[in-house]
Amino acid sequence: MTQQPENLTLGIDIGGTKLATGVIDATGRLHSYLVIPTPPSDAHGLFDIILDLARRAIAESGAQPTAAGVGCGGPMEYPAGNVSPLHIPVWQGFPLRSRLQETLGLPVIVDNDAKAFALGEALFGAGQGAKCLLGMVVSTGVGGGIVAGGRLWHGATGNAGHIGHIVVASEGEQCDCGAIGCLTCFASGTGMAERARHALVRGVESRLAARPPAGITARVILEAANGGDILAQQLWREASQSLAIAIAGAASLLDLDRVVIGGGLIQAGDFLFGPLRHAWSKYARLSFTRDLQIVPAALGQGSGVIGAAALALTEFGPDRRDDLHK
Ligand SMILES: [Zn+2]
Repeated sequence: MTQQPENLTLGIDIGGTKLATGVIDATGRLHSYLVIPTPPSDAHGLFDIILDLARRAIAESGAQPTAAGVGCGGPMEYPAGNVSPLHIPVWQGFPLRSRLQETLGLPVIVDNDAKAFALGEALFGAGQGAKCLLGMVVSTGVGGGIVAGGRLWHGATGNAGHIGHIVVASEGEQCDCGAIGCLTCFASGTGMAERARHALVRGVESRLAARPPAGITARVILEAANGGDILAQQLWREASQSLAIAIAGAASLLDLDRVVIGGGLIQAGDFLFGPLRHAWSKYARLSFTRDLQIVPAALGQGSGVIGAAALALTEFGPDRRDDLHK
């Protein structure tokens, strides 16, 4: 007789470019994993596609999960799970949590995808053993989540962890949120590309000028930096320095002992982490911040799904049923 694994949870990761589902057990091991590009669709059509992908992940795992967790872009009403993701404009106040609960017949928790990432890394990845962890996704945007004592810190409205909108400069480009000088303007892929385009308009010499403006991405800027381009190197230095400033602020406020950084920009490796650690030594002067570990994420491609499923594991798992916070 096949033994039924215990505490299986379904994870659903809803991004602007890809959708992923999978089933994990209580050790974080993936029993199934499916990923597709996010198709153009109307609100209900997109939901049906996600539902089908979730059911296929359950079928492939060969067992029935007891709960489901969803990581999705914000803004959203937490914990109601009505979502209006910036990267999925067809969903405006879409009742994702209630629709999934009705159709899957499972308890469902919906939360910010960066918070899910932080929880996944805290429980099963590079954040294991940390007492107070900041998980950061540095990609097209910059997001984050705080995990203290194995639990996500939600804040008053569920929005704790928005480190991308910590202000790191008193002047500069205006962020999508309306403020000036947010970390996202300096350290996200879109922010770096925007700063590169502005520099080129000002007449700064760079090999990036040979590119069409829409073709300038963080990857292209990295290639130029590796080739010795001064502007590209400066943009990466500013990204690293801005990250160090934001992390130093968070570390002083929260008494962090580890920061795990994931997302596409960590592929820059030492180009990002070298100057970041150098700048860190300048900004982290308090005794309790000096030993903070700043490390790359460990869970790789499945991190979104593992984090989403971890939301359900901590929300509905056997050791959590007595202290649901909603
Ligand atoms: Zn902002």
